[in-house]
Amino acid sequence: MELATILGLLLAASPPPSQADIERVQDVRVAKIGHDLVTANAGRCARRAPATGLLLGTSAAGRYPGVVAVLPGSPAAGVGIAPDDIIQSIGGTAMPMLGDPAFKDASAWMRAVHDRLDAGLAAGSAVLAIRRGERTLSVELAGVPACATRFVISNTRALNAGADGQYVRISQSMFAEFRSDDELAAILAHELAHNILDHRAVLDAQGVSRGLFGRIGKNAAKIRETEIAADALSLTLMHDAGYRMAAAPEFWARFEKKHGYGIFADATHLNGRRRVDMLNAEIVRVEAR
Ligand SMILES: [Zn+2]
Repeated sequence: MELATILGLLLAASPPPSQADIERVQDVRVAKIGHDLVTANAGRCARRAPATGLLLGTSAAGRYPGVVAVLPGSPAAGVGIAPDDIIQSIGGTAMPMLGDPAFKDASAWMRAVHDRLDAGLAAGSAVLAIRRGERTLSVELAGVPACATRFVISNTRALNAGADGQYVRISQSMFAEFRSDDELAAILAHELAHNILDHRAVLDAQGVSRGLFGRIGKNAAKIRETEIAADALSLTLMHDAGYRMAAAPEFWARFEKKHGYGIFADATHLNGRRRVDMLNAEIVRVEAR
């Protein structure tokens, strides 16, 4: 039998991926694209935090954070940190422990883990105490300059994405809509652009309500301005991180046809055709730069 045939049979025989496998692949995709965007565009960000290429989560044994994945070519990969390693301390300070009553839930704990990592690396490099099986290793890790935004996947059925100044959130349901990493990058770059441009603070300072009444009248016009600015900057962010800019208008044209924009459809966004035209015009500008 040809090797390809054997591989084909093996693949056909393997069980379908579990929900945990699917979520892990989604987490790694978002971490990789997020890492590319925040490192390539570090110079555009007023608020920075070191990026390491570590994707952390719960560990199989114990309450310290475990390494879910290490992005290829990242600082963490360079010093030999590996999946399933358990990070016990940084710079001699213990990592926050899951289940500590100080954290109301697992996401509060994960936020504290990332804060501890950022603080430990703020001055440059730091020594991590890592548990690997029966061994404890000391590894010196230094991050690379990056925007301070962190990327998370929210477990909701709604098709949406958002940015709050610190985080970019994308709903799990959105993943069925993406045909490529470039399209996923388009959404993450748009939300990252909101954070870089400090849109939440800008709208708060203008007294713009983003609630139910934010979608009509003068508030809507102000929000729409931020949406246009985020779309425009998102293309530069994609381009500089090595993603294909045309994926943005392609995604939105297809998404609108299918969902009529879904929850993105309100007075705060340009409607479909105009948005796609604006994105295409901006691509020409970025390419001519
Ligand atoms: Zn937006």
